[in-house]
Amino acid sequence: MSKQERVLTGDRITGKLHLGHYVGSLKNRLLLQEQYETYILLADVQALTTHFENPKIISDNLRNVALDYLSVGLHPEKSTMFVQSMIPEIAELTVYYSMFVTVNTLRHNPTIKTEAKQRGYKDMYYGFLGYPVSQAADITFCKATLVPVGDDQIPHIEQTRKIVRRFNDLYAPVLVEPEAIVGDRLEGLDGGNKMSKSMGNAIFLDSSRDEVTAQIKRAKTDPNRIHKHDPGNPDICPIYDYHSAFRPEGCDEIRQSCRAGTIGCSDCKGLAIRAINELLEPIRERRAIYSGRPKDIDEIMIEGTRKARRVAGETMTEVREAMGINYF
Ligand code: ATP
Ligand code: MG
Repeated sequence: MSKQERVLTGDRITGKLHLGHYVGSLKNRLLLQEQYETYILLADVQALTTHFENPKIISDNLRNVALDYLSVGLHPEKSTMFVQSMIPEIAELTVYYSMFVTVNTLRHNPTIKTEAKQRGYKDMYYGFLGYPVSQAADITFCKATLVPVGDDQIPHIEQTRKIVRRFNDLYAPVLVEPEAIVGDRLEGLDGGNKMSKSMGNAIFLDSSRDEVTAQIKRAKTDPNRIHKHDPGNPDICPIYDYHSAFRPEGCDEIRQSCRAGTIGCSDCKGLAIRAINELLEPIRERRAIYSGRPKDIDEIMIEGTRKARRVAGETMTEVREAMGINYF
């Protein structure tokens, strides 16, 4: 990997960010921004694919997500944060790519299938069905090679790679194939589902110490474990997942004591609470600083969007030339 490589990643602006985002993607972004030119997309257009009837959720959350980024330690000088709808080149690329992606390919995309089922879609909206094409435009407008994402995004990165190969074969080798850097998946507090904004099972990054404590205390554990000394099954317990994610050094011991019934759920939860609060403490400190500076947050997004547009313009010139649609 060379220094010139670019990282692109982002989040749908459908709510505040949670620990699942941290484990799946933010953690890798923090490492990658130290080495690579990083672009972070505030995906308001992709949020519209499921929230077009309620766009206020998006406008209400744009600054929350930007604040989450800064609080977690993404640095504006290392990571360019920009707003998807303000880069018209992304919409333009989406249209061109959509000429050579078939409806059946999109219908068979496993993540599209799962999400359509979760949302109860009988028929799929054109924009929703096509969001992997729009995501290919997000990734390729800046010729990103590395995309830190959660495992649900793997089919979309594969779709992007196919689009890149097809475009380059059809026209000229202008686009670059990206590679997914896949983070771990974090279980939700309900046990059995991934932690997700829309499932009501998330610990948000802006939670206070008391909120974390209360949420973990209420969280599901192994339902077959009734008495303190019953042997438990860590593989079906979300709290064990939090041990693996947030205190990996102690998780083998927890695993054994849970199986042997020598640690009770309440003590086990106590250790998880402490580890999560330790992770969140510096995030809370940065949040306290940035939340008093809303104008600076807007300025960071405006500047980031300006920079992303410059890059998008450069790619667009090459794309139009390759396709022979640069007439005048
Ligand atoms: P929504 O419910 O609106 O789809 P979400 O909580 O699933 O929201 P996204 O914005 O869809 O979040 O996901 C942003 C990124 O975070 C993606 O790379 C996704 O894979 C990752 N991610 C989200 N939730 C988790 C999780 N529980 N574990 C690991 N990665 C996750
Ligand atoms: Mg999602």
